[in-house]
Amino acid sequence: MAIGVKVVDRPIDETSYIRATVKGLALTFKHLMNPHKVTTQYPEEKDALSKRWRGTHRMLTTEDGKAKCVACGLCPTVCPANCIKLVPGEDEKGNRYPLLFEIDEFRCIFCGYCQEVCPEEAIHVGRHYENAEFSREGFVYDLERLMAQTHPVSELWDPADPRGE
Ligand code: SF4
Ligand code: SF4
Repeated sequence: MAIGVKVVDRPIDETSYIRATVKGLALTFKHLMNPHKVTTQYPEEKDALSKRWRGTHRMLTTEDGKAKCVACGLCPTVCPANCIKLVPGEDEKGNRYPLLFEIDEFRCIFCGYCQEVCPEEAIHVGRHYENAEFSREGFVYDLERLMAQTHPVSELWDPADPRGE
């Protein structure tokens, strides 16, 4: 079968590299002259995070300083990243509590499902992101560490306020 060659007209008017370059440079100069700062001088300056920012977890505590978690097992069940480890315990009165509760913040995808599903409003994602570590192990937050976090917790999506305003 003979191979045909199809010549396609290039729309030069629409694909002018010179015009595109000039337009790009004009945009750059426009930003150079903009009196409003667009660069945040981190870490000296920090932008306010959205109230729905989902970052480092927190475990909230009761008035007597115990974790609010009742080891129901819902959060490790819904966690899509499988990064919550829970070993439940039970005291002599039949109250459940976490013998072991760990979250691997490195594997977490910060979906917030754990917060949404928790019946005790115990586990929360938080408005915090400065959690860099030098080792994988450093990202594993045990119960004590989760309880020691003090940053604000995230707000869940509210259908009455879909844009979070
Ligand atoms: S935020 Fe999502 S991925 Fe992270 S621990 Fe909670 S449920 Fe798992
Ligand atoms: S969902 Fe809440 S109460 Fe249940 S195991 Fe998770 S943190 Fe604990």
